[in-house]
Amino acid sequence: MSVVTVDLQRVLNDIATRAAADESAGRVAQYIPALAEVEPDLFGIALAYPDGRVIGAGDWNTRFSIQSISKVFALALALAHRGEQVWSRVGREPSGNPFNSLVQLEYEQGIPRNPFINAGALAVTDELLEYSDQPCELMRDFLRAEARADDLEIDLAIADSESTRIDRNAALAHLMADYGNLRHPVPQVLHHYVRQCAISMSCRELALAGGLFTRHGLRGDGRRLLSPTEAKRISAIMLTCGAYDAAGEFAFRVGLPGKSGVSGGILAIVPGRYTLCVWSPGLDRRGNSVAGIDALDRFTAITGCSVF
Ligand code: GLU
Repeated sequence: MSVVTVDLQRVLNDIATRAAADESAGRVAQYIPALAEVEPDLFGIALAYPDGRVIGAGDWNTRFSIQSISKVFALALALAHRGEQVWSRVGREPSGNPFNSLVQLEYEQGIPRNPFINAGALAVTDELLEYSDQPCELMRDFLRAEARADDLEIDLAIADSESTRIDRNAALAHLMADYGNLRHPVPQVLHHYVRQCAISMSCRELALAGGLFTRHGLRGDGRRLLSPTEAKRISAIMLTCGAYDAAGEFAFRVGLPGKSGVSGGILAIVPGRYTLCVWSPGLDRRGNSVAGIDALDRFTAITGCSVF
């Protein structure tokens, strides 16, 4: 990797200033009522080093619900506690379809294409229920430790709001249950899935928590959660499946493993060097943060840090 030596705090400041001046901020997610009320052009960016130092700019200490970024941590916890059998429940191919699509699930006999679309995440939550009867709290506690923030909470207002629009995720779960790929009752799986998505964190906290992947599977305190191979695999799935049906465009522009969520957050990994988290709620039509992708594109262009 040919990396340009730059003052990273200055790069982040410049990116945040530019984002504040840019008016093409996209549209906030509409299908979860509580997300539809958020200001679209808030913007934060944080960068964490593997040793836990963290810098940032803009609204980097403002918390938001992590939504689909939780899918990365759910997969990490499932692999750590349930091992390889996770891969009998879920594939690892890009879907090329919207994140909540039902279509492929029928072609694939109830096995979701990957763990980062909703169906795949529901299967992972179901697998985690074999290990813990409170997987959303397991994840919250894990994230509290990695983010060094004991006050991280599940935002119940967001969870309750999403629960009023649960029909599509319920349809995915019921279809998987029909194919025998769900072991726990659908309402129980949905309960934990919606709550894991509603964990509220800032860019700073997510960048720290994502250090797990930058350190190739080591937690912030140095204990190993994942083998280097498992961490590599999760990063590979972030690269191929982490940005909904725009993962190709994300790789083209940003060139890093990343995972986005409909609240406008994106976690991105520069293996061995940094973890980045950007947040801006205005989304493009595929559900990715407009200003977030612009910022990461700019960061990798300025610094030369990408996996390519
Ligand atoms: N909780 C959201 C849902 O299930 C997460 C979607 C996302 O961030 O991609 O629809």
